[in-house]
Amino acid sequence: MALILSGKKIASEIKGEVKARIEETAAKPTLAAVIFGDDEGSLIYARSKARAADKIGINVEILQFSADIRTEEAVSIMTGISGNKAYHGIILEEPLPENIDPFPVREAINPAKDVDCTTAGNIGRIISGEPVFLPATPLAILEILKKYRIDTNGKRAVIVGRSRTVGLPLANMLLRKSPEGNATVTVCHSRTRDLSKITKSAEILIVAIGKPGFVNRDHVSKDAVVIDVGTNYIDGKLIGDVDHDSVEPVAGSLTPVPGGVGPVTVSCLLRNAYKAYRLSREM
Ligand code: NAP
Repeated sequence: MALILSGKKIASEIKGEVKARIEETAAKPTLAAVIFGDDEGSLIYARSKARAADKIGINVEILQFSADIRTEEAVSIMTGISGNKAYHGIILEEPLPENIDPFPVREAINPAKDVDCTTAGNIGRIISGEPVFLPATPLAILEILKKYRIDTNGKRAVIVGRSRTVGLPLANMLLRKSPEGNATVTVCHSRTRDLSKITKSAEILIVAIGKPGFVNRDHVSKDAVVIDVGTNYIDGKLIGDVDHDSVEPVAGSLTPVPGGVGPVTVSCLLRNAYKAYRLSREM
């Protein structure tokens, strides 16, 4: 049976470290969580981050704007928020409504406040090896591997999913010439042929596709480390992208959903928020 890689303890350790550092600071770091439209999921996610932040001394202001605006207006709103010294960090809740082009809105975020690592410059810095912020979910995955002493050096890592928030940055982070990288990385997507043949070659398999229970025992080799990033709500229940019951007897270790990558992601985001606050003091 697989070792269950719980994220809860790791998440509370990270939050404890950030809380202790904030207690030594004069002011409260403040984040703006910006929502265009009334997507229920975005609002729930922003509120849950605000609750977690509040417990460790970070203030999150949820700023919600109408969906019924043009891209230029959304950019102007974001430019104003980004220039406001009261906000040390900014989170743009996505997806945006279809009538708003997300690219220029993301680009209106000051890179030093881009705690979600969403601007083109900050994403590019992951590849150049000089990151300002690293994106929270890939960071969370590396934290879990580190805390459970799972060495990535020379390992065959397969990532299923090539999103700009998870798969692509994670691939670059695992490839880095560093003790926390040095993996041989393969990235799969919806056009990948013979998916199970590739995923079975993985010593470390990371799944981020948004398809509940898609990856099963036929995709996993014996003793593989399986990281399930998926968060899918089915009948009010949170389900991962990995069919836990079928994979658990085969894998060497496995993250649960809920209680795996999710809580560590929030902690890593809050750690980035503290970093943004520190950066603002240095300017
Ligand atoms: P996304 O932007 O929706 O992209 C999904 C990716 O999966 C795409 O690259 C897509 O391929 C690929 N894909 C879809 N079906 C596939 C299939 N049958 N076989 C192989 N690849 C397939 O993904 P995301 O934003 O990374 O989110 C993925 C999941 O992770 C979602 O459930 C999301 O809620 C969750 N998530 C969780 C956290 C957390 O903190 N736990 C954070 C972020 C996301 P194409 O590129 O070819 O379309």
